[in-house]
Amino acid sequence: MNGEQKITASHRQRLAVVYLRQSSLAQVRDNTESTLRQYDLAETAVRLGWPRARVLVIDADLGCSGRQAASRAGLQELVGRVCVGQVGIILVLEVSRLARSSADFARLLELARLADTLLADADGVYDLREFNDRLVLGIKSTISESELHLMAGRMHAARVSAAERGQLRCRLPIGYVYDDEDVCVLDPDEQVRAAVTDVFALFRQAGSAFGVVQAFRRRPFPRRVFGRAYAGQLQWGPLTSSRVQRMVASPTYAGAYVYGRRVDTRHLQPDGTTTTLTIRRPRDQWPVLIHDHHPAYLSWSAYLDNLQILAGNHTAGHARPVRESPALCQGIIRCGSCGQAMQTRYHHRSHPHGTYACDRITSHQPTNTCRSTDAAYVDTIVADRLLSAVTPAEIAWTFAAAAEVTSRVHRSLHAAELAVQRARYTADRAERAFHAVEPENRLVARTLETQWETRLNQLADAEAALTDTRAHLPVLPDSTALQHLAGDLRTLWSAPTTTDRDRKRLLRTVIADITVLPEPDRQKISIGIRWHTGATERITRSRPTAPRTPATTMAIIRDLAPTHTNSQIAETLNTAGHRSAHDQPFTPGGVDNLRRHYHLPTAQPFHHNEITVADAAATLHVSQGTLYYWIDQGHLPARRIGQHLAIEWTPTIEATCRHRAATSPHQNSKHQRRRAL
Ligand SMILES: [Zn+2]
Repeated sequence: MNGEQKITASHRQRLAVVYLRQSSLAQVRDNTESTLRQYDLAETAVRLGWPRARVLVIDADLGCSGRQAASRAGLQELVGRVCVGQVGIILVLEVSRLARSSADFARLLELARLADTLLADADGVYDLREFNDRLVLGIKSTISESELHLMAGRMHAARVSAAERGQLRCRLPIGYVYDDEDVCVLDPDEQVRAAVTDVFALFRQAGSAFGVVQAFRRRPFPRRVFGRAYAGQLQWGPLTSSRVQRMVASPTYAGAYVYGRRVDTRHLQPDGTTTTLTIRRPRDQWPVLIHDHHPAYLSWSAYLDNLQILAGNHTAGHARPVRESPALCQGIIRCGSCGQAMQTRYHHRSHPHGTYACDRITSHQPTNTCRSTDAAYVDTIVADRLLSAVTPAEIAWTFAAAAEVTSRVHRSLHAAELAVQRARYTADRAERAFHAVEPENRLVARTLETQWETRLNQLADAEAALTDTRAHLPVLPDSTALQHLAGDLRTLWSAPTTTDRDRKRLLRTVIADITVLPEPDRQKISIGIRWHTGATERITRSRPTAPRTPATTMAIIRDLAPTHTNSQIAETLNTAGHRSAHDQPFTPGGVDNLRRHYHLPTAQPFHHNEITVADAAATLHVSQGTLYYWIDQGHLPARRIGQHLAIEWTPTIEATCRHRAATSPHQNSKHQRRRAL
């Protein structure tokens, strides 16, 4: 090897480090020859006079790109060992591999020079303290860098020009394949095509990726394996929400060929390292967009509409999509006083339809006209305006809905039929394979028989699924009934089959937003409606006042309150034919609420000369049981009030009782016994 004489005993006493690197895992996998050659460098070190024990192979950087030194642990380790003077020689296959970035390379050369470390590649040994060697290495590094630059530039230009013609092959989403002439065509498998078509149809119906996943809950979705041994094979598995989102966002399904949707940008961090971020370019900055490049699953305008629906569901981006709640204006109502979006809340029992609350009222300083309002009241006004405004569109809307239901039913049935066809085909093929094998070849025959059996089981499953789908087909709405309904949108709007979600989606197709306008008069409410056409209108109504208990009824309650219990008052009022504020009979609970609301005194059912049984028992020093016995036997008069007994307590009655207690043999014997104890 050239320059072997530069190696001295001092170098041999230190380590010989073999530094291995391959840019990507694909290179490591495919370019095994190069990797082996790099490992052979260890033998070269032994040949140059290093004992095997002092040869260190650093291969931590196999599969790491050379653009950044920071992410390469191997290079860091090498630099560290050079700095502490452990390394006598560094062996690499090509010097350019050591550090593709010139800055990293220059630094290593400088450190190696200071630490008296040699460098060796296939061409010879370099001593970095010698100017000539440094010059040669510097030139080699520059050449390597320029080679890389030219090569990358040429490759990139070729890619871009192929992309501009729409001929650059890229990974196709499910539903498309490349044919023998590298042309992008629809997937020849009918079942795959049906599944993809259904995803887009269901997305339009459900309005969200999650809705599509729900509809595909009992139905597998295909994917084609990308790359390597099983490339192009079909696999069936559950459909995920992120996959639906990717499909909906992919322009490929709209027949467009796009190149450069994403771009890598490098950012410098405060600690001097760089990171690479992949960002999406806005649609108007895509470098290549070729419409009608291949057959489409949906039109370009439908694709753009879908993107808008997706953006409308993106709550992290402050979108407020339609929810299942009954509040009609949820997500599109704002406070006109402070400009905040109003929250829909359902915590209050007296507002079962929820309230629209201005956030400022609870969180920040509200303005003078910030209000919260009962959702049901605003909804009634808005729905009323909507129903009287969309009259001309009624019939078309109803029939579009009916057509959608019909097509949904047919699609689910068709998908199940295709699954059966596929299962039958694979079962037939397994059967043919089994019959084709020679009977002597028992091992193969046994495997094929098992496969045939599995396929037959799958066929039975698919047939069962088809029967199940047929059995669960929803009954299609009668078209005459629909026509009848079409004349009356109000009936449709309030039909039990129309969900709150449907109502809200319909509302949002015509109305852009609702604003609770500033209204100094607290008894009134002003609502601004902005239609999608750009028209706006303002509706002012009196706020509904809560129903109140009639004044005459309240007068009776006030009268009875101090002396009667809630049950007694309720009973009295109901007997007299009085009704509550909500036109209901009175209940003890209702009377109790009124008592609290109007701060009425609690019932004092006892007269001033009456006492309870407990009080009487304590005064006479007898048990309550004794008193109950006397009352029961008619010896002591008492008045029943609800669950209590009131005893009229006069000096005469007290004296009689004391006498009875003193002479009662039962009481005496008890007292004597107590004394004896
Ligand atoms: Zn407000």
